[in-house]
Amino acid sequence: MTSTQVRAACPLDCPDTCALLVTVEDGVATAVKGDPDHPTTAGVLCTKVSRYTERTYHDERLLHPLRRVGAKGEGKFERISWDEALRTIADRLAPIAARDPEAILPYSYCGTMGLIQGESMSSRFFNQLGASLLDRTVCATAGATGYRYTIGASVGTDMEQFQNAKLIIIWGGNPIASNLHFWTRAQEAKRHGAKLIAIDPYRSLTAEKCHQHIALLPGTDAALALGLMHVLIAEDLLDHDYIADYTLGFDELKARAAEWTPERTAATCGITADEVVDLARLYGQTAKAGLPVAIRTNYGVQRVRGGGMAVRNIACLPALVGAWRHAAGGVQLSSSGSFPTNKPALQRPDLLKKTPRTINMTTIGDDLLRPASPAFGPQVEAVIVYNSNPVAIAPDSSKVAAGFAREDLFTVVIEQFQTDTADYADIVLPATTQLEHIDAHTSYGHLYMMANNAAIAPLGESKPNTEIFRLLARAMGFTDPCFAETDDQLAAQAFKTSDVRAMHFDWESLKQQGWQKLNMPEAPFAHGGFPTPSGKCEFYSAQMAADGLDPLPTYLEPYESVASNPQLAQRYPLAMISPPARNFLNSTFVNVKSLRAAEGEPHLDIHPLDAAARGVAHGEMVRIFNDRGTFVAKARVTDKARQGLVVGLSVWWKKLASDGKNANEVTSQRLTDMGRAPTFYDTLVQVERVSA
Ligand code: SF4
Repeated sequence: MTSTQVRAACPLDCPDTCALLVTVEDGVATAVKGDPDHPTTAGVLCTKVSRYTERTYHDERLLHPLRRVGAKGEGKFERISWDEALRTIADRLAPIAARDPEAILPYSYCGTMGLIQGESMSSRFFNQLGASLLDRTVCATAGATGYRYTIGASVGTDMEQFQNAKLIIIWGGNPIASNLHFWTRAQEAKRHGAKLIAIDPYRSLTAEKCHQHIALLPGTDAALALGLMHVLIAEDLLDHDYIADYTLGFDELKARAAEWTPERTAATCGITADEVVDLARLYGQTAKAGLPVAIRTNYGVQRVRGGGMAVRNIACLPALVGAWRHAAGGVQLSSSGSFPTNKPALQRPDLLKKTPRTINMTTIGDDLLRPASPAFGPQVEAVIVYNSNPVAIAPDSSKVAAGFAREDLFTVVIEQFQTDTADYADIVLPATTQLEHIDAHTSYGHLYMMANNAAIAPLGESKPNTEIFRLLARAMGFTDPCFAETDDQLAAQAFKTSDVRAMHFDWESLKQQGWQKLNMPEAPFAHGGFPTPSGKCEFYSAQMAADGLDPLPTYLEPYESVASNPQLAQRYPLAMISPPARNFLNSTFVNVKSLRAAEGEPHLDIHPLDAAARGVAHGEMVRIFNDRGTFVAKARVTDKARQGLVVGLSVWWKKLASDGKNANEVTSQRLTDMGRAPTFYDTLVQVERVSA
């Protein structure tokens, strides 16, 4: 028996981007473990990816191209050859492209975070075609935009410093489920005397293990940050030198924050004024004592109308108290902006003959149903889906499904499994998993460039995304030499820039080592140098004013709340959020039996008083509904959900739920204040017992 260990990287939409060691015995991957030498992975993987071989060798892996023989959505397919699949696709796309290539839409997201199997050869293909561009907004753009206006880019505190902080505020995230290696460091900080505070409407696994949990109403984080600023300023818990040297607009901010008394903040957030004052004092006094205070904020806070502003307001706090002076102080939303990647070389925007229209992936439901018009352009006639499962994950799901059910829509889905979306495809193409292809990765949680080597040969007739788009390019008659580049040649370009942060990058050695840290300062903003237009942390943003936004931190009521829409709140009095279930990653892993068994079935967590008011007992089936749709789940009566809030951990495959639906039946396509992102957690519903 031959046994080898292959260096790989986790491809999933998770900030940790773990370094993997894959054991291969006689050509079969038998184990996937965390690399003990990689400083952030430290030999530990989450439950999901430690089962990655179960997923790779799953008996439902797609191993051959398929053609639909049943109705759209029914899931009936027959096997066809690659030649036939490619010919069929080219025959359908060519006349559309000749008429108007903007009628063709790529739809993809972070099914893999890889720079090569994500957007490289695929982008080249769609750019050559002249297809519509996709605005990839479904996760992070609201927060990233608010953060960028304030700090300048998605950069911040190094994850490898958090264990040295003396106060860590975990704001809008559940790292035990979705940022495990940060949580390890937060626990280490706790062992050394740090205080951990969770801010989250839901008492998540993480919130349960923190010293304090502040359970504010969903969508009110921006108000809480303003209330904290108010107290910090009123009680002079400030770093005046840092403010004077490295920030812009303090006087204007002071006037704005004065409006947010602890009482007003408390009333808006559904918490007590003491919670506001005590948190501000703890944050300001710890910083004043010269100790590092750090905030780990996450994308939970930005899935509401004012989501971009919420992140912006949170990002202002460290500069007020001078937290950036310490390597272990400051704030982290994402480290993705730290990586100098050469996306133009990978994606080749120069292949575009003109700039096509852009379609927002968040509004795919409406846009697939939209007729041609001067404002919209041509009706969407063909969609090529890869690295995503929009029928399960996009908001306002009944419209998404109706769009994909259009008889006149030609749909290709490139997938590893027969997902909810693949059921609507005309042609399904089988894709490789991370163990079967090579890739290069950045991270949005740490600062390492990562390499993924192929551990095993592709299973069945599956192919890497890159190879699929190479073959499609050939079938479409594209002759540019860029379509002949190999994955190795692509990966060698990934970090090839003149930027000093990646100065030692060399793909061949990265493949050998598996990972390499960027060349970054330990405390990036200890002496200012923010990548904003002014070089300062911008409490006042002239760019926001130019973009038609309030240039100062402010608060926007959610679209759906008692204050903003009392009539709606009367009919649908419960706020619903649908954060990630621990054993799933977005909609990935729901079909892995051991992980689905751990989750059980779709649940709805509901407070005992809300359950009693509806005659709902623990374990009973309930219907969750609003004007957009309805789905059923099993009630878990628990005070983990604060009163007035229900929580449906997600994202279930619709076809694996008893009613064929999931939480996105009730979420809306309305967009955030900035970043054009979805408002999944800005949702009012009613709940009723399903009668037996
Ligand atoms: S999902 Fe996250 S924690 Fe799990 S192995 Fe991948 S990167 Fe690591």
